[in-house]
Amino acid sequence: MIRSAQVVIIGGGVTGASIAYHLAAVGVRDVLLLERKFLASGGTGRSVGIVRQLYPTPETSQMVVRSLAVFQNFPDAVGGESGYVECGVVIGVSAAMRPQLEETVKRQRLFGVRAEVLEPVELARVEPRINIEHLGAVLYEPQSGYGDPTAVTTGYAAAARRRGVQIEQGVEVVTIRSAGDRVTGVETAAGDRVDAPVVVNAAGLWSTAVARLAGVALPIVVGRHPVFVVERDAEFGRPHLVYLDLAGGSYARPETGGLTLTGSLTDDETQHPMEPELLGGDVSLEEAAEVLERTGRAIPRLADARYRRGWAGAFDITPDWMPILDESPLRGF
Ligand SMILES: Cc1cc2nc3c(=O)[nH]c(=O)nc-3n(C[C@H](O)[C@H](O)[C@H](O)COP(=O)(O)OP(=O)(O)OC[C@H]3O[C@@H](n4cnc5c(N)ncnc54)[C@H](O)[C@@H]3O)c2cc1C
Repeated sequence: MIRSAQVVIIGGGVTGASIAYHLAAVGVRDVLLLERKFLASGGTGRSVGIVRQLYPTPETSQMVVRSLAVFQNFPDAVGGESGYVECGVVIGVSAAMRPQLEETVKRQRLFGVRAEVLEPVELARVEPRINIEHLGAVLYEPQSGYGDPTAVTTGYAAAARRRGVQIEQGVEVVTIRSAGDRVTGVETAAGDRVDAPVVVNAAGLWSTAVARLAGVALPIVVGRHPVFVVERDAEFGRPHLVYLDLAGGSYARPETGGLTLTGSLTDDETQHPMEPELLGGDVSLEEAAEVLERTGRAIPRLADARYRRGWAGAFDITPDWMPILDESPLRGF
């Protein structure tokens, strides 16, 4: 079968669904999203969903300010639920990291980011259960929190469909067609052809493989990032805030049912390359123990939390850890 579209989006994670929605919202017609499995089946469905404001570039700072407003108002802005919980995010840094943090926050304020740098002792009024011994400063983002990445994806997808976007699941793109220096469309594993002047690579962990179909090389490493789930004891009290302990190398984000999601925060994922197909696989008790020890130092009341389970996640990592948003040398791709 040969069809045509104005834009083909490859990948039905949060990025592809959001692009589909926003294209339709600005009036682009004939948008087709192709997802090889099901919506949010990639990194999105394995994400921890922390929504923070601390990002290092002007572009990402502006993106997080706009994103936060959408998360806070998802039912009206997009439709559906984002599962957003505005519990606040605290980021702990060492004394050596403090000047850089203050500089970044100063620049980010110009874009409307709301965050305050606190002395570690001042943290007691926000979240007294965090260990401040090793901290040189703390960033407090009162409006940040966490959301439900799968709900956000399906929310965007539903809103995109309402605006005429076609979303097809179980459809894998296996060929990217081109003529000269222009993209002309895609072919699917079922042998269908879709002609399109614009093809968007939103394949997340698989974006390098998809780019390769177009003869484009992307400087991305897929690095393993395991996530661990612990159960807080009954005496823990109200859920903790989201805590990113940059000084100690772990994070903790509350989940319903008295659970906490935790993982490493040492930015060493590039040293642990992973095949994307292993996403969601098992984790070892040894790697859990190593991270849980750091989490227990960050929030000592979590040291006795019961380990429940874990899964292998992965990040698609560029050289500067920032997203790639651009047209490739193949025009229209
Ligand atoms: C464990 C973990 C924790 C994270 N924690 C956070 C966090 O706390 N805060 C935060 O902001 N971010 C976090 N992230 C990152 C964030 O979740 C991801 O950056 C985001 O979800 C990526 O979405 P995506 O749509 O770009 O990619 P993906 O979700 O990977 O989606 C890509 C989609 O493309 C599809 N696809 C691939 N190849 C093809 C093909 N040939 N044809 C058709 N479809 C194809 C895949 O099936 C997949 O569904 C985390 C990620 C992980 C894995």
